[in-house]
Parts: sequence; structure tokens; C-alpha cells
Amino acid sequence: MAQRYVRVQTADGQVYYGLLQIDRQIHILDAPPWMKGQPTDLELAPDNYQILAPCAPSKIVAVGKNYANHAAEMGTPVPTEPLLFLKPSTTVIPSDAPIQYPPQSKRVDYEGELALVIGDRCVNCTPQQAQTRIWGYTIANDVTARDLQKRDGQWTRAKGFDTFCPLGPWIVRELNPGAKLQTFLNNDPKPVQSALIHEMVFPPDVLVSYISQVMTLLPGDVVLTGTPEGVGPMQVGDRVRVAIEGIGHLDNFLITRDAEA
Ligand code: MG
Repeated sequence: MAQRYVRVQTADGQVYYGLLQIDRQIHILDAPPWMKGQPTDLELAPDNYQILAPCAPSKIVAVGKNYANHAAEMGTPVPTEPLLFLKPSTTVIPSDAPIQYPPQSKRVDYEGELALVIGDRCVNCTPQQAQTRIWGYTIANDVTARDLQKRDGQWTRAKGFDTFCPLGPWIVRELNPGAKLQTFLNNDPKPVQSALIHEMVFPPDVLVSYISQVMTLLPGDVVLTGTPEGVGPMQVGDRVRVAIEGIGHLDNFLITRDAEA
């Protein structure tokens, strides 16, 4: 099993980066692993922590229509260059946390995606340099209010609601390019999305290089690499799982957004 890098919170509110062991104990690191965090003597027992999203990005840079069959289902051609948008850092939630269905939308979709975690500051990188700045891989759900995306003509509101970026549950350092990405709803064993990572149009090194010509990527930043075909709606009460071979699975459920919160 590949090493799993997590971020956790203890009951007294301390946040740590660590290594998840097979027995679910956590070896605490003294810094984020991409900042050369080293193992300490501290260990956490399974009932003494809660899993957080595995990093705390300053920004999430996402890519639209990066699988040809998804561009086709949206009735649009594959872009000739990566199509970038941002999700605010406040969209991030961990695995097993609720996605809040906002009252402004009547159509909220899942988008299962491979997420890249940046390890080093990255400016004007070539694809070759960019590959060395990708510290690891995790799973994301680029939750989208599809009706608002169409109505607004740009994507800030549709992609930007609180809880609209489930991320995790952990980071691995290596990924097989042929790994399968699948999305499941509720108890249905048949996936609603299923694709291979290497079917994406612009691969991770090209995306990170392209983004780095525009904005500086900082350690802990996240790049969402786009979703394959099969996007569709979720309802309040639904459970959604995004699974990537060699990483694991990201599980979330939908609740009504409480206007009082
Ligand atoms: Mg997406």
C-alpha cells in the first residue's frame, strides 16, 4: 500500500499533518510533508482524531472540459488550450462531511476529478519542471450548480458555494497514469462516471506548466484536472463517492444549506 499522507484535527483542536498507518494510528509530522515535515515521536490513536482535507490550499485552480467525452456531452468542442477557473479555498471539505445544497440552485451536479497537490512554488515552469512540483495526488469532487453556471455565463457562483470542493481523504505520491476514476451514487454498484486518468486532454504536467505562466502556484495549492463524461445531478439525502485506483475513495452526502448557519 502506498504511503498515505493525511491532515487531522484532535479533540482539543490541534491540527497536524501525519502518516496514516494500516492500524489507523497516525504518525505525526512536524510540518507539512511538502515542507520537509519529519516524523515525530507523537502518535494518535484512531479515536483521537478527525480526518481533515489533506491540505489547506491558498487557491484551487480547476480546469474545464479536459476529457473529450465530457466536452461532447456538454455540447462543446475540446478547448484548444486549458480552460481555467478558480474555486475559493472555503469550498474545501473533507471526506465524510456534508455538501450543502444551496437554496439558489435547483440542479447541483457531482464531478469526480483527480486533484494535484503542489509541493513547491511554481512560476513559469516547463512541463518537465512542473512534474517535479507536483508533490502528490488526491481525489476531488468539483461540485457545480449547473443551472447557475448556465445562467451566469461565468462560473464563480456555480463553482464557489461553501462545501463545493470535497477533497481527500489523503495524498499519495505516485499514481499509475492508467488508473481508473469512477463516481458512484448511493448504493448503485454501477458507476455514473468511469474513465482512465490518461484519457485527459491536457495531462498534469502540461496543466501545471500552463497555470504557472499565469499565476504563482504555492505549496499546498490544488489543481483539479477536469471531469470525464457522466456528470449528473444529486439530491438532498444522496451519498456520492469518487474513487481513484491507487488512491482510495472520497465519500460525501448532501444536506440542505441552513440559511441560519
Ligand atoms: Mg470540473
